[in-house]
Amino acid sequence: MSQSVSDGGVLEMARRQLDQAADRLGLDEGARKVLKQPQRVLMVSFPIKMDDGRMEVFTGYRVQHNFARGPSKGGLRYHPLVTLDEVTALSMWMTWKCAVVDIPFGGAKGGVVCNPKELSVGELERLTRRFTSEIGIIIGPEKDIPAPDVYTNPQVMAWIMDTFSMNKGYSIPAVVTGKPIEMGGSHGRLEATGRGCVYTIQDAAARLGMELKGARAVVQGFGNVGQAAAKALAELGVKIIALADSNGGIFAIDGLDLAAVLAHKDQTGSVTGMPGTESMSSSEILELECEILVPSALENQIRGDNAGRIRAKLIAEGANGPTTPEADEILLKKGVTVIPDILANAGGVIVSYFEWVQGIQHFFWTEEEVNAQLRRRMTASFDVVYSTKEREGCDMRTAAYLVALKRVSEAMQLRGLYP
Ligand code: NAD
Repeated sequence: MSQSVSDGGVLEMARRQLDQAADRLGLDEGARKVLKQPQRVLMVSFPIKMDDGRMEVFTGYRVQHNFARGPSKGGLRYHPLVTLDEVTALSMWMTWKCAVVDIPFGGAKGGVVCNPKELSVGELERLTRRFTSEIGIIIGPEKDIPAPDVYTNPQVMAWIMDTFSMNKGYSIPAVVTGKPIEMGGSHGRLEATGRGCVYTIQDAAARLGMELKGARAVVQGFGNVGQAAAKALAELGVKIIALADSNGGIFAIDGLDLAAVLAHKDQTGSVTGMPGTESMSSSEILELECEILVPSALENQIRGDNAGRIRAKLIAEGANGPTTPEADEILLKKGVTVIPDILANAGGVIVSYFEWVQGIQHFFWTEEEVNAQLRRRMTASFDVVYSTKEREGCDMRTAAYLVALKRVSEAMQLRGLYP
């Protein structure tokens, strides 16, 4: 797999993170070799009839990184810059994420190279259904379970579930998570990633002696994760001073009215141009003076070239891979606490696990039950990572990797080498 320019070398970054933790853990060379590669990769090219009668061919991927701890699990991304390297890196991060929060899954990820903003609903549905049929040979409730990621949502998950079920001849809700509640989704799944991220911020703030009421937060990315995180922070009395989506950012020193921003985004398609706010670029908001920074958009946002200008005290990675290893070093020296993606945004996969369990058992929980279980797991995972960090004298990312790698490598060792 070559390193592509468009994804900023995320696969190389994921492998460097693995190497750093593997060195510290003293992981044997064989296990390291295995974990650097995905176990299974499926690349598909498939035709779709567009609304104007043209035929267009799309490329998609499903990458399964590791099954040592159970079936693989991970989101599905629709984005013009999706590459095989990016999907592979994301699948590796899913393996560590499931291990760090101790749910019985391995890691996977999928993506289709497309611009969903330029597709009609009909085109999006046909693309989703055909892609599901193409990857149908390797997904399933006991094999690999997709979920939403960037520019996919509960409706897309409903089409996946329906297509997979139609092909098999009976309803199989547990093939996918993040479904609408009306057809087997879980209460609390939509908000789970952002909510879980804020639980980790609460846990970190308690350790750092940071008062959340009145603290200032900046949230980059205003989709599923960013919106839920911003709302949960605001409920704790945190002032959201800046937000950004793919069109740009907005800043208001006295805090933004989230309901008004949401209404503005609904009307105009973006947070930009919100009356009473100052315009800024999406990268400029990262450098604002604040207590809490929540990158919730894409990879490679905090890098060697801008990390020195970050003024937040605490960074909670709602997005996957927003901070490069060079930036990690700079932030560590500056004394900035980074709650790593594989812990901070694990709330989504935790509630996906609950949804999968509920789907298999055909027995559904209340939102209170889901949130209480989510809280319990997030805090237990945070505690393990934090005590590892204290014991090892390292940053939280390294600590989270140490916890995850130990669990994955132990499972691999117990299963043994086949044949
Ligand atoms: P989404 O499609 O719902 O939202 C993405 C948001 O990012 C949108 O507001 C979009 O406008 C914005 N965006 C895109 N490019 C941007 C840029 N350059 N600058 C600023 N904003 C930009 O996607 P999501 O599900 O919220 O995913 C966001 C991140 O969280 C991704 O890294 C994803 O992998 C990660 N994540 C998502 C989940 C989940 O449950 N959805 C779980 C774990 C991690």
